[in-house]
Amino acid sequence: MTQAEQIVRLPQAVAVKDLAELLGVTPIDVIKELMKNGVMATINQIVDFDTAAVVAADLGFSPEEEGGALTAAAPAAEEAQAANTSRRVTDADDANAVSRPPVVTVLGHVDHGKTTLLDSIRRAKVAAGEAGGITQHIGAYQATAPDGRTVTFVDTPGHAAFTEMRARGAQITDVAIVVVAADDGVMPQTREAIDHARAAGVPIVVALNKMDANNANPDRVKQQLMELAMVPEEYGGDQIVVPVSALKGEGIDALLENVLVVADLQDLKANPKQPAVGVVIEASTDRHRGVVATLLVQTGTLRVGDVIVTGFAFGKVKAMTDEAGVRVKEAGPSQPVRVLGLSEVPPAGERFTVAADEKAARVVTESGRREVEAGGMVSTGVTLDSLFGQIHRGDVLDFNIVLKTDVQGSIEPLVRSLQEQSVESINVKVIHASAGTINDSDVNLAVASKGVVIGFNTDPEPGARRLAEVEQVEIREYRVIYDIIDDVERAVKGLLKPVFEEQEDARIEVRQVFRLARRNAIAGCYVREGTVRRGSLARVFRKGAQIAEGRIDSLKRVQDDAREVGSGFECGIQIDVFTDFEEGDEIVCYHMEQVRQ
Ligand code: GDP
Repeated sequence: MTQAEQIVRLPQAVAVKDLAELLGVTPIDVIKELMKNGVMATINQIVDFDTAAVVAADLGFSPEEEGGALTAAAPAAEEAQAANTSRRVTDADDANAVSRPPVVTVLGHVDHGKTTLLDSIRRAKVAAGEAGGITQHIGAYQATAPDGRTVTFVDTPGHAAFTEMRARGAQITDVAIVVVAADDGVMPQTREAIDHARAAGVPIVVALNKMDANNANPDRVKQQLMELAMVPEEYGGDQIVVPVSALKGEGIDALLENVLVVADLQDLKANPKQPAVGVVIEASTDRHRGVVATLLVQTGTLRVGDVIVTGFAFGKVKAMTDEAGVRVKEAGPSQPVRVLGLSEVPPAGERFTVAADEKAARVVTESGRREVEAGGMVSTGVTLDSLFGQIHRGDVLDFNIVLKTDVQGSIEPLVRSLQEQSVESINVKVIHASAGTINDSDVNLAVASKGVVIGFNTDPEPGARRLAEVEQVEIREYRVIYDIIDDVERAVKGLLKPVFEEQEDARIEVRQVFRLARRNAIAGCYVREGTVRRGSLARVFRKGAQIAEGRIDSLKRVQDDAREVGSGFECGIQIDVFTDFEEGDEIVCYHMEQVRQ
């Protein structure tokens, strides 16, 4: 039955039909497995390594990344970056791939000017539409940089929205602008924003805002950034810091130029010559027009008339408009468009794909709905226990922790002790630590990073507790530091060295041998102790010495197949690799059990 898991090497990106071929199954099998994991895919759709690996593992393979696995020794940031790139839609290996605009999200502390900055860029840099030159808030827009290139902005600022999208599996941001007010400096949510961007492996450009304010103190902000290991370029580091005044519209050009510099390092590409794949930015119903959704195309080209599927919603694209209200016929990579024609309102962060026709779209959404109703949706969450399985599937190298404490003073010693628990192949990483209650954004960060939330002398907010239950993220609450360290240490050890022990299930005596065909025999047995189960591992002993080991292939009570037979009963046994039974042989059945260290 279960053989040793077969290793399969998967490329960074693979089409569904090619994946099926690699795994020796039909494309429908792959699409079904994808659906179980909440991914609605078409046969020609490209999926990334992580997604393909989950499917492969579900089908009993042990997936490896072509060109070798990531090593845990790589610097944390690079690792996160690599992991991040592989989660994002990437067509880098595709011969038809061309450069695409970066997608930017604006993060930062409340009142530091995120909204003002987004408005100011929109006003100055978005081509005015026909409708009186007024651009609309559709959730995202494209701005033109001084060199004529395009930058896409997500119009919902803040790390809560950013990480919520990631928690839903939608990684759309290529560059994060972290806004810091020069008259206020680095504040708690600035740190939070930086941690969230780092956890996503998204490079940061700092916009030093409110430079026009009387009490602006840019030097102090730069000092504070250095304390967060973000050394500005003028101090010899590589952190780009751009002074701006969102209010007066100053420094916007420089900001866009620098975003493009950072984006260029990532070599962002997509293939416009395939059906579109992307993410729902926002959606609502309009009394006159029906469902109105803003979609961000990540790869491929979306056209009027295409049939799109997103979650349970589907429909033919009736009309598309850009942020200026201008009708467009098609939208390419990194382009946001407002779309009419969906059957219902999809949630923000939901992926969309293009289906062959409306019938196919209906089938996909209906079977997806049935899966969900049957509870078939696989959760993305992680618990200390489930980390074990993940590490051994090669999914996790970082043991990511979101740490919340009662007071600021507990953070530093705790982070230090936790990180000391790292070992060669497992990196205990506190991706965010702050004082306060455990909130939604902490839980979402843990979901998005496949991590756990640890609370020290602090409690989850009721909403966060519910979210954690839904997402199946573990929140562990502690009152004693020692217990935290102890648990994490044990989790890491458990991850490192899974120890399996043999557990004996039955001792059986061979009393009679029935020869069948030439190389086949049934041992007529008597179960002396325990219970024998079909499929169980077995060893055959003769005069106290082991002569064979295999698996119980067939188990019969009288003439009938039996799942198990208890002590004191007779049964017929066949073992897969052994037929040479003799009267008086002893069969010992056992199974392997993982023992917790
Ligand atoms: P958000 O909470 O980060 O989105 O911040 P807002 O964009 O709502 O801005 C908060 C306040 O800061 C508003 O009163 C803005 O007018 C003000 N503000 C934003 N940018 C600037 C700026 O560059 N200079 C000055 N002096 N005030 C600004």
